[in-house]
Amino acid sequence: METCNWYADGKWLEPAGGEYFDSDNPYTGKAWARIARCDEKDANIAVQAAYRAFHEGPWGRMTPAERGLMLRRSGDAVARHADRLAEVETRDNGKRRVDIRPGLTSWLIDSFYYYAGMADKFEGAVIPTGRDNILNFTRPEPFGVVAAITAWNSPLLIAIWKLAPALAAGNTVVLKPSEFASASTLELMRALEDADLPSGVVNVLTGFGTEVGAPLVEHPLVRKVSFTGSVAGGTRVAALAAAGVKSVTMELGGKSPQLVFDDARLDDTVHGVCGGIFPPAGQSCIAGSRLLLQAGIHDAFVARLVEVASRARLGDPNADDTDIGPIANRAHFDRVLGFIERARADGATLACGGNAVDPDDSGGWFIEPTIFTDVDPESELARAEVFGPVLAVMRFDDEADAVRLANATDYGLAAGIWTEDHRRALELANRIEAGTVYLNNYFDACTQSPVGGYKQSGYGRELGWEGLRAYLQTKSVWLSTARRIDAPF
Ligand code: NDP
Repeated sequence: METCNWYADGKWLEPAGGEYFDSDNPYTGKAWARIARCDEKDANIAVQAAYRAFHEGPWGRMTPAERGLMLRRSGDAVARHADRLAEVETRDNGKRRVDIRPGLTSWLIDSFYYYAGMADKFEGAVIPTGRDNILNFTRPEPFGVVAAITAWNSPLLIAIWKLAPALAAGNTVVLKPSEFASASTLELMRALEDADLPSGVVNVLTGFGTEVGAPLVEHPLVRKVSFTGSVAGGTRVAALAAAGVKSVTMELGGKSPQLVFDDARLDDTVHGVCGGIFPPAGQSCIAGSRLLLQAGIHDAFVARLVEVASRARLGDPNADDTDIGPIANRAHFDRVLGFIERARADGATLACGGNAVDPDDSGGWFIEPTIFTDVDPESELARAEVFGPVLAVMRFDDEADAVRLANATDYGLAAGIWTEDHRRALELANRIEAGTVYLNNYFDACTQSPVGGYKQSGYGRELGWEGLRAYLQTKSVWLSTARRIDAPF
């Protein structure tokens, strides 16, 4: 079994308390690595290192162009280590290899390059104050130490979405991955050692949210918190950050609707809807987990959907022909099965799936793609984020009904609208309360386009220009050129 220490100030360190915890391989259900169980003392070491790197180290003295070069080197380092990064993430959280390599890793590399290019392009402004003897200008400045806390479903992606813009803006970072999937973030740190970033610029603390995440957020030297995770976790973290009046970005969960109108192309839409939830076993924040079907096509659409979903091959996330991998951890596997059991008890009709399976007898945590119809819009399945391969199907009659149902959620991360009427698609896109709306497609994203939530799906944006601005604060500088200053009294 591999032993993974944590990283601060350019060094691999043993945890202060000397303890480690197991990380499991979801395909085998067995532990494969021991991860450092950091605590408050370690959090302090990491934050102090990041603080020194920001205020005293070469990082703070670098020109923006030099920082950009460091980010380019970081992208190059990820490119060199891409195979190993993909291997570790697949082993640690069961994400399909084909999802990570080459697609995801080339996207991660691009994210570093994209923000490398921005490092010397954010400008202040000269403000038209209307005063003759005053020059007032703004300077975008970094916050200092950023705490970046990430979820287990896509640790590398989420880490780099925070790391690249935070560094481009000139901050230093302490990353805290989920206890359920820390190994690939540690592997990323190993890759970044090749980029020769100055010590303390990036640090990775591992361990449990309450033991090390909370002290990290509360640390007085941390000035910005960027969090990706559940609403429950985000609410706790936002409260801790509020006590220290820290800037916060929240990327939280979703219960995203897919609206299908009777003029949508049947097969394309079925493929889009299936692809919008099942390949990552529903473990995606933007999973389209509520399917709203116009009444006239309901039965035909469900029949075709069941046919396509039922032929998905579950299995080894390393295999090229695997359609759906395992659930990333045992606790979550039990949680998803609990949702399925309660949906049955609530009277929803099980159209397909619903079972835990072990297709390769590997001991892995697999759940069949599961579709429930006749879901009561007030029921738990219609409202709660399952974060598993479970699709809740409901019916609507007309546009107004569709919008009402789509917005009947506390979440607002994403939505899909399927119709051949593009006027209707664009009109409805304006009326849906969600940070991302897909029209006749689903699940796309790119480094240049901002993502984030409405309502309880969070606030702030990642990626694009907005993703960079989240790591900058504005200083307004006033210079007087007056020859004399009049006495005030
Ligand atoms: P959690 O909220 O449970 O945990 C997220 C992170 O917060 C983990 O690193 C966790 O550590 C840490 N944490 C938990 N409690 C605290 C605390 N009190 N103080 C500091 N840190 C804490 O989310 P999950 O990991 O279960 O992730 C799944 C969720 O993430 C889903 O809701 C999903 O929708 C959402 N998500 C959102 C995305 C977006 O972009 N909007 C993208 C991906 C996922 P530990 O693991 O030790 O508890």
